[in-house]
Amino acid sequence: MAALFKIALERIIQASQLIKVDGSILERLQIPLETTEVRLTIRMDEGSIRSFWAWRCRYDNTRGPTKGGIRFHNQVNGDEVQALAVMMTAKCAAMDLPFGGAKGGVKVDPRSLSNRELERLARGYMQIFVRGIGPDRDIPAPDVGTSEMTMAWMSDEYNAIVGKVVPAAITGKPVALGGSLGRDDATARGGYYLLQHKAAALGLSCGAKVAIQGFGNAGQHMAKLLAADGYKVVAVSDSKGAIHDPAGLDITKVLQAKKDYGHVTSIAGSDGVSEIPADELVSIDCDLLVLAALENMVHEGNAGSIKAKIILELANGPITPEADEILNRKKRVIIPDILANAGGVTVSYFEWVQNRRAERWDLEEVHARLKTTMEREADAVWAHARDKEITLRSAAYVHALLRLSEALRARGTAKFKR
Ligand code: NAD
Repeated sequence: MAALFKIALERIIQASQLIKVDGSILERLQIPLETTEVRLTIRMDEGSIRSFWAWRCRYDNTRGPTKGGIRFHNQVNGDEVQALAVMMTAKCAAMDLPFGGAKGGVKVDPRSLSNRELERLARGYMQIFVRGIGPDRDIPAPDVGTSEMTMAWMSDEYNAIVGKVVPAAITGKPVALGGSLGRDDATARGGYYLLQHKAAALGLSCGAKVAIQGFGNAGQHMAKLLAADGYKVVAVSDSKGAIHDPAGLDITKVLQAKKDYGHVTSIAGSDGVSEIPADELVSIDCDLLVLAALENMVHEGNAGSIKAKIILELANGPITPEADEILNRKKRVIIPDILANAGGVTVSYFEWVQNRRAERWDLEEVHARLKTTMEREADAVWAHARDKEITLRSAAYVHALLRLSEALRARGTAKFKR
């Protein structure tokens, strides 16, 4: 399997061949603006010290300060961080947010650390990268393995180092520290608004059967929103396993089981719920498959078994290019990550705006603005797909590239004819 960064770049290059795009933008996008790889050392609770690999990649700032989450996961590496950063560049452009793309990460299993060790790790991360971070330069946010608590520690450390309170330097903070209402479920809600808006075009209706891979922030909120709207969530999975009930799972009970015992399979055996191997989830009989776990979960080996007609990528990069080809041949509709999960960064943008204006928007306002943004950009992506007879993924990248090249042209730094 090709490295993730190579795959991400390849998708941009392929999209560039479908439109007339200035070569300068491609030339810029081949290499990140800056990637920093460091050792992050903290003191553990029992007194020893431990070192971790840590990264921050600011990929491109053509359209504004760089923006991207920080991931704490034991599989994080520099290749993944750069891939996710270039995808963020495309995502912010596709959504018309005034940001470039970035990403950060620490190679650590956060579950193996105590809360006090996690706090030291979060503060240590900020101490190392603080010079590159700021509301007009680079704005971090949470991602897999980090939370609003992590952002609160980082924001607090940032403020202590720079000697003033700068809430707009970090998004995804607790509401009490200037976080936006509606940030917690924004990723899922953005995907949900998109599905609602395009339901007729996608052939989805109330009662449609859904399987959700990954039951963390994105997956849990999606399950709640879809179940409340009359969809039948028949299967969900997490890293420990999957559960299935063809009659539809009781999502309230699954959420409680996940909260109490840490994994969804703890509810298996009751009320017609059966446990199935986690990797069987994608081949469950359903209309909509929501991918909300990690990268490369759908690959050459399992893409052919997918029965769902519609696949929503709430995770970043969950489908490999080989699997993409198989699914495209089978006429499956894939709603691509840079559009489907952009609700998260969109509400992060709302948080940044509120912090800079010293305002607080109520939840209705956040939801209304998110809905408008998702619908506007989904319509634009669908129009490119229709006009150019290309997949939604290619259309989303075309949409992003057109915006990036327009910004480059406007700066007057593109190549001149004479
Ligand atoms: P999370 O850590 O809260 O949840 C990830 C979930 O995936 C967990 O339930 C985990 O158990 C599950 N998982 C891991 N391996 C699995 C496997 N093999 N099979 C099934 N499930 C597995 O993370 P999250 O914030 O929900 O993010 C999930 C994805 O969505 C990531 O790709 C992330 O980059 C993307 N995303 C998240 C946000 C956000 O705001 N949270 C925004 C944009 C994109």
